[in-house]
Amino acid sequence: MNIDYKKLEMKCWFEDENGNIVEKDDPRACFYRNCFPLQLHECLDEYCYHPKNPIVKFLCRKSETLYKLFSRGKDKTFKSIFDCTTTYMSGSDCIVAMVNSGDFTLEQAIWVYAKSCERCMNALCYKYLDGKEGYPEYSEEWEKANTVCDFCREMDSHKC
Ligand SMILES: [Zn+2]
Repeated sequence: MNIDYKKLEMKCWFEDENGNIVEKDDPRACFYRNCFPLQLHECLDEYCYHPKNPIVKFLCRKSETLYKLFSRGKDKTFKSIFDCTTTYMSGSDCIVAMVNSGDFTLEQAIWVYAKSCERCMNALCYKYLDGKEGYPEYSEEWEKANTVCDFCREMDSHKC
């Protein structure tokens, strides 16, 4: 393999029509390419009956009874609601440590880190980077951060 490590550092660049890298102001520039390997891509699709007829669509939105009537026997289809990416570049050291600990697979570690709120990210860093970064769970700083995500929400409700 012949891997150009300089190219691996590039996250975005302009290309001409033949895929050659050119400067932004180059008159041949016609594509802007961006590539971020450390991103979690998440999509949410609505999965239900989506009428094509605008009148039926309007009626379905107005009344659940009409929606049930019109949708009977019809196939459900997907419709994108949102599409977002979360960059977890700052957590790469923590993610590697999480995987090396044996507690998580790479996919799980990325998922957990990228979906964590601020205090959970700090708690993960503290735990997996041997206390060099972040702060421990339930510490004063952790309480002060006052952020909430799926990984710490339940702990809060247990305390009440
Ligand atoms: Zn959290």
